[in-house]
Amino acid sequence: MRTALITGITGQDGAYLAQLLLDQGYAVHGLLRRSASADVIGERLRWLGILDRVKLVDGDLMDLSSAIRIVGGIKPDEVYNLAAQSFVAASWQQPLLTGAVTGMGAVNMLEAVRIVCPQARFYQASSSEMFGKIQQAVQSESTPFYPRSPYAAAKLYAHWMTVNYRESFGMHASSGILFNHESPLRGIEFVTRKVTDGVARIKLGLARELQLGNLDATRDWGHARDYVRAMWLMLQQDEAQDYVIATGRTTSIRDFCAMAFGHVGLDWQEFVRTSADLLRPAEVEVLLGDATKARTKLRWQPSVTLETMVAEMVEADLARHRGRTAAPVATRA
Ligand code: NDP
Ligand code: GDP
Repeated sequence: MRTALITGITGQDGAYLAQLLLDQGYAVHGLLRRSASADVIGERLRWLGILDRVKLVDGDLMDLSSAIRIVGGIKPDEVYNLAAQSFVAASWQQPLLTGAVTGMGAVNMLEAVRIVCPQARFYQASSSEMFGKIQQAVQSESTPFYPRSPYAAAKLYAHWMTVNYRESFGMHASSGILFNHESPLRGIEFVTRKVTDGVARIKLGLARELQLGNLDATRDWGHARDYVRAMWLMLQQDEAQDYVIATGRTTSIRDFCAMAFGHVGLDWQEFVRTSADLLRPAEVEVLLGDATKARTKLRWQPSVTLETMVAEMVEADLARHRGRTAAPVATRA
């Protein structure tokens, strides 16, 4: 039985990745940071029905000693470093914490693996935000980076350190440059989930409007379940490399709103208000990825369309607000 360690297992991707690895027969361990709200931690794992099938170990990405203790104790075959302060907007409010967790935290994991389990394969969750102020209309592995937020700068440091550990120490370390990916388990502060949650509230009479920031930005949105499959595929390759994971289609926030409100028969323009308070100090206007390398080498391709994903997310939020639990099993690909 192969063993995997996932940091960020309580997050969106961590939960879906844990499910995929369990389905493949792995023993799955997850790093869990201590919280006074232990009762609500693991909500996403519970939603997928796998909370009691993963082994959670206490530790924090910023604490190298816990990383060494955990990696040394588990001796995993594969390490997926997904933990991060992952919200771009918050990174301007907490730039040092973002640097410590999202940047240095990745190096703590790389160091732990190098010191106590160097044969383990390592995945780093890099981000299309690193392309930032885009230098090419369509972004691939060869596109120059131009980070536009403390989050993106921290991710870029972690990305290059992953490349550096591969080249310096011969570690099997891969970096997945993933474009935005969403699901019913997406954090509520991200725009897609904020919109689908808002649609559900408005439809059920629990809210009258939805406040958003920049509606003109466009994102290449895929489904998290498809994207965690790409992470796993990267670690199954003989040679560690970096890959862009994207759908190749970009959609504005405005059009996403039209789709989500349209799903329940509402006109978004009657309910969406814009607020200058929600604009960012620097914006990433457009992201559009070219995943040709992943399609060719990993034989990866997305299976969920944006339309299907929007419907799944709106239905899940309607179910949540009606006080029922949506049935994730029914929506699995
Ligand atoms: P989430 O925000 O849903 O999850 C982040 C995870 O990191 C949570 O489990 C969180 O724990 C954990 N975490 C945060 N700080 C620490 C810490 N100090 N020590 C240990 N764990 C910590 O992110 P996603 O699942 O959406 O994304 C996964 C990764 O992929 C992230 O690194 C993200 O930046 C990156 N990424 C995501 C993209 C996307 O579109 N989703 C696109 C490209 C990259 P807790 O539950 O306790 O808060
Ligand atoms: P990001 O690409 O990782 O920053 O993902 P987000 O979902 O947080 O933001 C995607 C885009 O939506 C950015 O260009 C934001 O400026 C834009 N956006 C517009 N209104 C909002 C909002 O109310 N919340 C968030 N999170 N983003 C918004």
